[in-house]
Amino acid sequence: LPTLMEQALPVLEKLAQNGFEAVFVGGCVRDTVMGLPIKDVDIATSARPEQVLSLFPRCIPTGLQHGTVTVLHDDVPYEVTTFRTESEYEKHRRPMRVEFIDRLDGDLLRRDLTINAMAMNAAGVLYDPFNGLVDLDKRVIRCVGDADARFQEDALRMLRTIRFASQFEFSISQSTWRALLRYRELLQHIAMERVQSEIDRMISGAHPDRALQLLAASRLLQHCGTSLPVAAKLAEGCSGAADSKSALYYPFRELNELEDADSRYGAIFMALGIPLLQAEETLKALRFPAQRMNAITAILCMQAAVDNKQKDDLRLAWTYAVLHYGEESALRWLSIVHGNKQHVLHSQTNQLSTWLNSMPAVTLKQLKLNGRQLAEGLNKEPGTWTGLLLKRLLLDVALDKLPNEQEALLKQAQIWNIEDQS
Ligand code: ATP
Ligand code: MG
Repeated sequence: LPTLMEQALPVLEKLAQNGFEAVFVGGCVRDTVMGLPIKDVDIATSARPEQVLSLFPRCIPTGLQHGTVTVLHDDVPYEVTTFRTESEYEKHRRPMRVEFIDRLDGDLLRRDLTINAMAMNAAGVLYDPFNGLVDLDKRVIRCVGDADARFQEDALRMLRTIRFASQFEFSISQSTWRALLRYRELLQHIAMERVQSEIDRMISGAHPDRALQLLAASRLLQHCGTSLPVAAKLAEGCSGAADSKSALYYPFRELNELEDADSRYGAIFMALGIPLLQAEETLKALRFPAQRMNAITAILCMQAAVDNKQKDDLRLAWTYAVLHYGEESALRWLSIVHGNKQHVLHSQTNQLSTWLNSMPAVTLKQLKLNGRQLAEGLNKEPGTWTGLLLKRLLLDVALDKLPNEQEALLKQAQIWNIEDQS
């Protein structure tokens, strides 16, 4: 067992000592079998939630109606969930009723995919009634039981299918893929926050290119509750029929090399030629937090600022954009263009990068003259003019026309001040 699971053994043992069955389930079992590092340890048990609560001194009643108690052991939280079945799904998203049961089989039956429906006991023995291990070996994503029924119950499972297929670069079994195509419009019933969370995990994952290919081929995103301008555009880029293996016209391979998720979103919008407003609309529909939305759209603004600039204007446009949208956005945009040989500015990235690195200051804070010093130097009352003048100085410093030294800056400010007055 991996260390994280070893550390959880006392929780399993305590449940066993009190006559309950308790096993590891879900992602931690799957990742262990695959030899991947595990993220968190989930436990399933025949003990009822109130019994779990009474056995462990430190726990949080996370979702009692669903049977989940978070148990703290050595300060590590474990989700301990009572074996349960689900029934009568409401609007293709949530079970109306969950029923606690005594047997593990029934609990595994409610799970989404065969590779996620394996359990492991304290001795490391695998319990795998749906042949998840065979599917892991064959590298196939397959629903537990009848795929049509599973997607009708909970439409989020369609996105999870694509997420796991892309994360592990697995194929999707034919019956599961066909069911996904048949029931894709049920995605409209899923809250956009949950859609966002799955998409975000796909895009930040190891193979966002594969995720986009599957999203395009399935046309799944065209059935979101709030329409996404990016969805149709993405599907257009997919050749031929809705085959799970059909290739994308734009392969997005370089996405995998980009470090952070926000750069990847920026690169996707740029590659698809999505205008800023539509990108914003897409991110808003997906309920992206403002901070991330700004980070992503700033990349597109950088793009707009340097797009179509003649060689002579490029340095000015670039410098202006760096000061306006920030160094971080500039670096993100650079990494995208550097990785994309098709981009018109691809061959300029070294030059742009050199210019960026040689900018002595890119923020007003880094300027060796502040508002108070400027006002004193010009013998004027500080006002809105100070900020404007400092920005003008900053631009010249960033363009390497002016040294970032207090005396030189003040001297230049005095010249401009006289010019402005005459
Ligand atoms: P990750 O490593 O991404 O956390 P995970 O398999 O642990 O993967 P979770 O979303 O944490 O995924 O869910 C834990 C387990 O709960 C899954 O392995 C699966 O067995 C089950 N599960 C989660 N969501 C669903 C769902 N919508 N329908 C059915 N079973 C689900
Ligand atoms: Mg998990």
